[in-house]
Amino acid sequence: MSKVLIIGAGGVGTVVAHKVAANPIFDEIMLASRTKSKADDIAAAVGGGRIKTAKVDADKVEELTALMRAFRPDLVINVALPYQDLTIMDACLECGVNYLDTANYEPKDEAHYEYSWQWAYHDRFREAGLTAILGCGFDPGVTSIFTAYAAKHYFDEIQYLDIVDCNAGNHGMAFATNFNPEINIREVTQPGKYWENGKWVETAPHEIHKPLNYPEIGPRESYLIYHEELESLVKHYPTIKRARFWMTFGQEYLTHLRVIQNIGMARIDPIMYNGVEIVPIQFLKAVLPDPKSLGENYTGYTSIGCRIRGLKDGKERTYYIYNNCDHERAFKETGTQAVSYTTGVPAALGAEMFVRGLWKKPGVFNVEEFDPDPFLALLGERGLEWHERFDVDLEL
Ligand code: NDP
Repeated sequence: MSKVLIIGAGGVGTVVAHKVAANPIFDEIMLASRTKSKADDIAAAVGGGRIKTAKVDADKVEELTALMRAFRPDLVINVALPYQDLTIMDACLECGVNYLDTANYEPKDEAHYEYSWQWAYHDRFREAGLTAILGCGFDPGVTSIFTAYAAKHYFDEIQYLDIVDCNAGNHGMAFATNFNPEINIREVTQPGKYWENGKWVETAPHEIHKPLNYPEIGPRESYLIYHEELESLVKHYPTIKRARFWMTFGQEYLTHLRVIQNIGMARIDPIMYNGVEIVPIQFLKAVLPDPKSLGENYTGYTSIGCRIRGLKDGKERTYYIYNNCDHERAFKETGTQAVSYTTGVPAALGAEMFVRGLWKKPGVFNVEEFDPDPFLALLGERGLEWHERFDVDLEL
């Protein structure tokens, strides 16, 4: 039995709330966010009086600690924005609360993310006897757990890792992002980067691309971008010679993105407008469709997985492990599309792993540092079936 505090009432928070509420292992649940009415709407949609709500500004440690002292959770599931990771971790340390998130820390004034800021909390969490689980969404999250599973069961040495992320869904809008527009645009417009022979190789944004075939979907143009799990995976699997991340984008999406950048709307520095300071990308977020609203008309699948080449018993082998998620099914169950769903389901399951004592060790850890087996044993049942293919052409 456990008390859990979910922070963030967006698309991912909606799915986490539904999944946690459906699991009797969590006996008290609070959903807190900046705009309380959004948390109230989610609690009402879940029903059954399962979820209490609160208002909190997670940029402020003192508001977080006041809430934690009043509610006394065992675990915080942080599904607010990456900007809040450190304040929430600070509050957890102050109040003796365990921590889980789905995205690594990013400063607001710099489109740059890396684990160093959160890894720096390791000793403090360890000394306090608290667990922090980092990156428990889909990517990072399930992709990292897939890699851990491959390393545990099928490889003596993982040498080549390609994480492939395809959204073959159609939401019928000219341009929209599938998760928080500000975070999403910051992520996909930065230079590409991959790991090769012990060092990072930088590319121009979207410079490297090729068509890849996705199961039940077919070929989709896939672009090499930098993604945060590469950093922790090459650290934890030092046999990896090359690690890359590929994401599909449609031509229409890329054209809009180019225009947004060219006209300065992706800027993250404040400008003065009519005597008021605004940040262009934050203004853009306010006029773009809310990712939560896309679900209603979204059809098609996402397909995310790991394509791995390496050695087993001295012989080379390949392995492909993936999940396909149906936008319509995700919407029917939780009222959100598959991108929020594929993030929220693993976050709720990671929380369960913690509560059951299976993923509990003092310190700050990425998900691949825990046993992947009990997590993957339940992932299908919780809504994300996964599949394996052995010794196939990885196309990479
Ligand atoms: P949304 O923008 O839909 O939701 C974010 C929520 O956090 C909103 O309810 C927002 O409040 C709230 N929030 C923002 N700032 C604060 C604050 N200072 N205090 C309290 N609440 C705050 O984003 P998503 O649900 O799409 O994404 C949530 C997280 O999941 C992000 O960190 C994202 O990077 C991550 N993610 C991870 C993925 C993975 O696979 N690992 C994939 C997709 C997303 P308000 O409603 O007032 O704006």
